[in-house]
Amino acid sequence: MSHYVDGNAVLGAFSLALGTDLSEGSLECAGCGSSHAIAQTRVYLRCPGMVLRCPECGGVEVVIVEIDHRLNVTLSGVLALRIAPPRASPTT
Ligand SMILES: [Zn+2]
Repeated sequence: MSHYVDGNAVLGAFSLALGTDLSEGSLECAGCGSSHAIAQTRVYLRCPGMVLRCPECGGVEVVIVEIDHRLNVTLSGVLALRIAPPRASPTT
């Protein structure tokens, strides 16, 4: 039953959904409070959309579903999403 891939599988879609590069991003689990890189989450693809689960407690952190060509991202199991701010373009 526990067929999953690592979080790298969703970084592309997740980054696209939020409009920023999430490869260095991390999540804080609402279930157990652990912090981990998005790349470390367990990703379940054999369900509608993609489900990201906590590598510590297995709780659902993020659900990404494409509906009518829009990515619907649910962050119900996440206390915090930590991402690098968009790089400012050089002003000089
Ligand atoms: Zn957890």
